[in-house]
Amino acid sequence: MKRALFPGSFDPITNGHYDIIKRGIKLFDEVIVAIGINADKKYMFSLEERKTFIEEAFKEEPKIKVVTYKGLTVDFCKENDVDFILRGLRNPADFEFEKAIAHTNRKLSKIETVFLLTAAKTSFISSSIVRDVIRNNGDYTVLVPGSVVVGSK
Ligand code: ADP
Repeated sequence: MKRALFPGSFDPITNGHYDIIKRGIKLFDEVIVAIGINADKKYMFSLEERKTFIEEAFKEEPKIKVVTYKGLTVDFCKENDVDFILRGLRNPADFEFEKAIAHTNRKLSKIETVFLLTAAKTSFISSSIVRDVIRNNGDYTVLVPGSVVVGSK
């Protein structure tokens, strides 16, 4: 079974992430969307909210699983029989950042990172821009799947 892990913070999931996951399931038998838990990071949405947004967005898609994890991504992959890490690339800054991580992960394991280039129509979207739009009462709904709902924030 060809299994890929799509790790990230997903604070919140955006149309950019959605596009990468949708295209990822054409390449793999299963895509595990993995929300990394980082105690030092401040998030806008709780872990439960972030997980629910993703699960709801893909509730019709049996090939997608959503999990949370702590620690090194490669350790999670080894423990869960995952051979590929899936990542999205938007621009040269993403490439430089991702290159260092992918090289490190290859040094630590045999896990290959597979990169998908962002779709042109979602290339500008990042979770941090979405959070900024939300904080300033803008229409965030054009940037995220319909499952992302902002409560009293
Ligand atoms: P991280 O905290 O690891 O950067 P993110 O949730 O921001 O987590 O992103 C997870 C993955 O999704 C990364 O590979 C990132 O490059 C990719 N990604 C984010 N936004 C987009 C987008 N608009 N198009 C394509 N890939 C994206």
